[in-house]
Amino acid sequence: HAPKDVRALLEMSRFHGENVFIAYEDEHITFEEHFRRAVTLANRLVDEYGVQKGDRVALAMRNFPEWIVSFFGAAAAGAVVVPLNAWWTRQELEYGLSDSGAKVLIADGERAERLAGVDVPMIVARAEGDLPAGARAFADVLGEVRADVTMPAIDLHPDDDATIFYTSGTTGKPKGALVTQRNLGQSPMTVAYALLRTAMRAGKTAAEAAGPRRVTLLTVPLFHVTGCFAVLTATVFTGGQLVLMYKWDPDRALQLIEREKVTVFNGVPTNAWQLLSAPSFGKYDISSLNSVSYGGAPAPPKLVERITELLPKRTPGNGYGMTETTALAVFNGGVDYLERPESIGLPVAIVDAKVVGPGGEDLPAGEVGELCVKGANVIKGYWNRPDATAMTFVDGWLHTGDMARIDEDGFIYIVDRAKDMLIRGGENIYCAEVEAAFFEHPAVDDAAVIGIPHDELGEEVGAVVCLKPGARATQEELREFLAERIAHFKVPARIWFREQELPRNPGGKILKTHLRKEILGA
Ligand code: ATP
Ligand code: MG
Repeated sequence: HAPKDVRALLEMSRFHGENVFIAYEDEHITFEEHFRRAVTLANRLVDEYGVQKGDRVALAMRNFPEWIVSFFGAAAAGAVVVPLNAWWTRQELEYGLSDSGAKVLIADGERAERLAGVDVPMIVARAEGDLPAGARAFADVLGEVRADVTMPAIDLHPDDDATIFYTSGTTGKPKGALVTQRNLGQSPMTVAYALLRTAMRAGKTAAEAAGPRRVTLLTVPLFHVTGCFAVLTATVFTGGQLVLMYKWDPDRALQLIEREKVTVFNGVPTNAWQLLSAPSFGKYDISSLNSVSYGGAPAPPKLVERITELLPKRTPGNGYGMTETTALAVFNGGVDYLERPESIGLPVAIVDAKVVGPGGEDLPAGEVGELCVKGANVIKGYWNRPDATAMTFVDGWLHTGDMARIDEDGFIYIVDRAKDMLIRGGENIYCAEVEAAFFEHPAVDDAAVIGIPHDELGEEVGAVVCLKPGARATQEELREFLAERIAHFKVPARIWFREQELPRNPGGKILKTHLRKEILGA
C-alpha cells in the first residue's frame, strides 16, 4: 500500500537495492548505499546533535547527493526538514533559519561561507577551503557507514510534520508550507497516476506503462517542490535513477542525456524551452529520451508545438501544482496534452478540484473562478502564519489563488493568478491576456502587466516592456497595436520601457511586486 511516512518510503527504496539511484558527475550511488547513508545520518543527528522529533533541521545546498541523504536522514530522525533556497542571500537565509527555528544546519561549502558566524551548529558538505569555526564536515559526521544500520527508535505518525518548504515568493514574502509525513509519503502517487493515465491513453496496458527503468534528468533545484516531490520522492517510489547537475546548463543537459541514457527530462518550462533552443541541440545522441515534462509555471502552448516538431516521438507533459500541494495536483500529458495544449489537464487520482465564485459558491463548467483543490498531497497550513492559513484553507479546500475554468470534460484551464488580475472600474482584466497581446508585436521581447492605483477607477492598466535587441517601438505604436487585439479598457494607459531583463524568480515567474516597487516606488 501507499507509504504514509518517510520511513516507509525509504524502506521501500531498498527493494531497488543494487540499482543506481543517484548519478552525479563520476559518482553513482545505489539505493542500498543511499539507504545506509541516510539512516546513519539520522542516528548521528539524534545521538550527536540531540535532534528530537519535531526539531527543525535546515538544508542549504546545491543539488548535491548530500542534499538527498540529508533530506531523508533528517526526516527519518523525526526532524522537520527545512530546505532553504540556495540562491538566497545571507539575509534571506537568515530569515529562513530564524523563521523555522532551525536547530542544525546542513550546508554546502558556498552556503557555509555565506552564513559564517551564524548561531546554528553547521554540518558542511563539499567545502573547498576551511570550515567556518565550530562547523563539522559532513563526511566526519557520517563516519563509518555500516550495512546493519537501523532506524533510530522514534515513533512517527502520518500526521506529524515532516518538512517545511518555502513558497516561491511570487506574490509576497515566501511562506513556509508545512508538509506532513502523509503528504510526503503520498506525493509519489500523483506522479505514478499521471504516468499511468498518459500511457493508457496511448493505448498501453498498465504493465507496458511501467516500461523500462526511468532515468530522470533533474534540471530544477531540490529545494522547490517540483524537484523534491515531482521528481525525487517519485523516483524513490518507482525505483528510477536520478541524474543531478551542478547547475542548469542546456548544453550540459544534452551531454548528460547522451551519457546517462536519460529517458525523462523534467524541469520548469523555461528549461525545456532552452534545451530545445540550445545551439548544440542535434549534436548529441538523445534517442534514449522518451518524455519531456515540465510544470510549476505557465507553459506557452508553443512549447508543445516545439516538442512535436523537434521530438515527434517523445511524450510531452505539463504538471500544475503548488508548494502547498507538494508539487503535482493536475496533469496534462501525451494524447490529452496534444489535443488540448492550453489546458493543465485533469486532477490526478488523489486530488479533487473545483472552481468557486467570489462568495465561495461552486461554479458550473466554463465559468471562470478560483481553483480549489484537496487531496492527500495537499498541506493543511503554513508554518507560523495562522492568518494566511485561515485565508487559504477553507472547509478542507486549498484556495490556490489561481483563476481557472473547467470544461465539460473536466479539463482545467488556468486563466491567471487571482493576484494578477486587476479590476478597472469594476471590469476584471487578466494580465496574462494583455501580456499575450504584447507578445504578438515583433519588437516585444518580454512584457509584464500590472495594476497601478487610480483614484477614480480603483486601478488602471500599466505595463513594463522589454524590446528585442535593436528593435524600436513607441508607447503610442504599442497601444494602437494592442487596441486592434483587445478591448479598449484593457489597453495599458502607461507603458514603461525597461533596458534590463524583467526580474524573475528561479521558477521563471516575473516578480511583479519588485516591478511595482520600481515603477511606483511603493
Ligand atoms: P508565492 O505563493 O510565495 O507567491 P508561488 O505561488 O509562485 O509564490 P509556488 O508554490 O512555487 O509559489 O508556485 C505555485 C504557482 O505556480 C501556482 O499557484 C500557479 O500560479 C503557478 N503554476 C504552477 N504550475 C503551473 C502550470 N503548469 N501552469 C500554469 N501555472 C502554474
Ligand atoms: Mg503561491
